Amino acid sequence: MILDMFSLKGKVAVVTGANTGLGQGMCVALAQAGADVVGVARRDCDETSKLVEENGARFLQIKADLSSMEPIEQIIKETVEHFGHMDILVNNAGIIKRNDAIDYTEEEWDSVVFINQKFTFFLCQAAAKQFIAQKSGGKIINIASMLSYQGGIRVPSYTASKSAVLGLTRAMANEWAQYNINVNGIAPGYMATNNTEALRNDDGRNEEILSRIPAKRWGTPQDMAGAVVYLASAASDYVSGFTLAVDGGWLAR
Ligand code: NAD
Repeated sequence: MILDMFSLKGKVAVVTGANTGLGQGMCVALAQAGADVVGVARRDCDETSKLVEENGARFLQIKADLSSMEPIEQIIKETVEHFGHMDILVNNAGIIKRNDAIDYTEEEWDSVVFINQKFTFFLCQAAAKQFIAQKSGGKIINIASMLSYQGGIRVPSYTASKSAVLGLTRAMANEWAQYNINVNGIAPGYMATNNTEALRNDDGRNEEILSRIPAKRWGTPQDMAGAVVYLASAASDYVSGFTLAVDGGWLAR
């Protein structure tokens, strides 16, 4: 039956940046669909752990700072040691640094591009190796942005890295579809999280943004639920290399 295709019973999902915001919302959605969840974060995931367990799923926290390559092996190893296998990866952790392009520093460039782009690619690679070794196939979901499609203002490294996430999602999908690995993306619109706090606190920008969103509201972590469960489940087995916007109509405008 069609709804059974959305079930994630028996699956293990790894979500980076699981302690808050969209990452936390997606952990809860995956748990509600039946998956056990591994939350990767720099900070404690107590709140996420409680929410996942309240939904009847198991939760493992892996504490890691993703600003170096070091945690990649640890994430896969600890997941497989604990749960025996890994089926879904959601690359959600990401940062943004705002400054005029004319004044943008090398640090602002490197730190953002490292985590949003380089770490994302190499964690995808490690997950794909695990999926191939398991002969199970797998699902990779990369969190892109409206700035995968548009230029943005005062966030050049974010735009560069999120545009790369869209392109890399296609590139990896092309190589790994033969192993039944689906690589897709979700491009959130303007969502109410820490990431956009500065924008929402700026009355002028807040007004400007809201007036351009056809849905007339900021998105929420719950708005990610349907898209992430779909792309993590058998319902999307023939969807490959596509980035789905969850944006209240922003891109359509
Ligand atoms: P957020 O700031 O609340 O969450 C970001 C997450 O990434 C946090 O869990 C944070 O701990 C984690 N993270 C950042 N640097 C890390 C590091 N060095 N090591 C480990 N974890 C680290 O913001 P959010 O809005 O929930 O963002 C989640 C993702 O969605 C990001 O990739 C962001 O770019 C993307 N996104 C957000 C919006 C939005 O409007 N909020 C829009 C488009 C895309």
